[in-house]
Amino acid sequence: MELIAIDMDGTLLNSQNTISQENIKAIKKAQEMGTEVVIATGRAEFDVRQILANTDLNTWVIGANGATIHQPNGTLFHSVPIEEKDAAEILEWLDEKQFYYEVFSDSSILTPQNGRALLQMELDRIQSANPNEEIEKLTAALEKQFSQTGFYHVDSYQEILEAGAPIYNVLAFSFEQEKLDLGWESFQSYPNLTLVSSAHHNFELEHKNASKGIALQKLSTHLGLSMDRTGAIGDSPNDLSMISMASHSAAMENGRPVVKEASDFVTKSNDDDGVAHTIYHWLK
Ligand code: CA
Repeated sequence: MELIAIDMDGTLLNSQNTISQENIKAIKKAQEMGTEVVIATGRAEFDVRQILANTDLNTWVIGANGATIHQPNGTLFHSVPIEEKDAAEILEWLDEKQFYYEVFSDSSILTPQNGRALLQMELDRIQSANPNEEIEKLTAALEKQFSQTGFYHVDSYQEILEAGAPIYNVLAFSFEQEKLDLGWESFQSYPNLTLVSSAHHNFELEHKNASKGIALQKLSTHLGLSMDRTGAIGDSPNDLSMISMASHSAAMENGRPVVKEASDFVTKSNDDDGVAHTIYHWLK
């Protein structure tokens, strides 16, 4: 295998949100054997680097669901921001529908001051109707969301638009399925946008020419490598573009059924070093 793309959450990260020693070892082994490794994630690149800083791993990073590609040394290699007028329509809509949302730019994740209070209100509303166990899961999802690096709080969406910084990805998060459904209805036929989901409770928007798959193809071309000898590992619908474009693919045991169906095989779970197992399988 010449190029391996690895999703982060639910794939490379275990449920403690760390990278296991086994996975680190396997990635380094692949690199030693001359295979290029790229992390391909919905996360922002600067957030990925923060996670990698706890390891001695250094890789290419496809971030913001394919809207950015960064070199191993952190230099931006390629980016596809959302067009200004589309960004304005998205943010106005999310604001009106009282969504918690995050806007991924070059070095920060812009989010309105009142966003966390909005989510807490959603959580309070569903609290009475759900068992404690379920609420604990939702609270954990929230904590994970807030554990990203680089938040910058703004007073309004207009402040984001006026800043004029590139917008690579807009992530909307809600505990209310009807709200999420409304988002899918509103944006899925939007001509200039890619709409994906990386987890329960969210949907994410990028430029139509941004996806993990398109970015992986761009990178393989740049590196002079063949997509025939490229593998992709993931767990969620936002991985489908790279899983369908890479010639080899693996879904995590903990992955969504649609991803398992689209992949060559199902590997072990993220808590059982599924990435390491897949890498060794491909290196053989
Ligand atoms: Ca994932």
